[in-house]
Amino acid sequence: VAGEELLRVDDIEVIYDGAILAVSGVSLVVPEGAIVALLGANGAGKSTTLKAISGLVRAERAEISRGGIRFQGRDSTRTAPNRLVREGIVHVLEGRHVFSHLTVEDNLRSGGFVRGLSRAQLEQNLERVYAWFPRLETKRKTQAGLTSGGEQQMVAIGRALMTQPTLVLLDEPSMGLAPLIVQEIFEIVARLNAEEGVSFLIAEQNIPVALKHASHGYVLDTGKVVLQGSASELLEGSHLQDVYLGRR
Ligand code: ATP
Repeated sequence: VAGEELLRVDDIEVIYDGAILAVSGVSLVVPEGAIVALLGANGAGKSTTLKAISGLVRAERAEISRGGIRFQGRDSTRTAPNRLVREGIVHVLEGRHVFSHLTVEDNLRSGGFVRGLSRAQLEQNLERVYAWFPRLETKRKTQAGLTSGGEQQMVAIGRALMTQPTLVLLDEPSMGLAPLIVQEIFEIVARLNAEEGVSFLIAEQNIPVALKHASHGYVLDTGKVVLQGSASELLEGSHLQDVYLGRR
């Protein structure tokens, strides 16, 4: 159920290495309690937009050279990533990034350390993550690198949930996964949203899956928003059909 504005990105420009303009004029809103899709082809600027929001751009020698970002009404444009995690924004990077030599459970616990949780809170959150991803509980002692791609994506999302986020930035959760497992992951995301009120901004190339669960979408092309609207408007509109769905 969407309500007040949780996140506002206002006309940002992001430059890598002081020279490469990756994003030039992206504005978007994530209402409280919403699932919003950020769509577009490879290199369109989806990952860079998410990194601007989570503060991780600076770790890649990039900077927000114009525009601003507000989270819960406060300017977060220059807030450090670890502080943003404490304030409720967590970023699940593209490509899953689990610690492959650690067990599934230790991967999940590492999310709680980022947040500096007490032991009791950590155990409580772990139980909560296992309730959402029962598959992970059966694999808790398995090295994360030995689990399937879908399970690794669940570990990455579960680790993010350990931080008790308000807003989860998900970068291409469907990447390289079979349709059934993609469906399973998106269904869990939708339930987390409906039952716990967690908001999501999801970068995806898989437009049908993303718009099935999102209420709104923004389409990026070469660093700009070229199309936006409600999920149904975007799915019905001929532009998206022609330009993106028709190509697939
Ligand atoms: P993908 O799905 O491939 O990640 P994307 O839509 O997320 O695509 P970005 O990764 O944000 O797109 O890339 C946007 C532009 O910024 C591209 O032209 C890319 O080459 C450039 N870019 C991304 N990361 C860097 C970096 N670390 N250094 C320099 N340029 C970069």
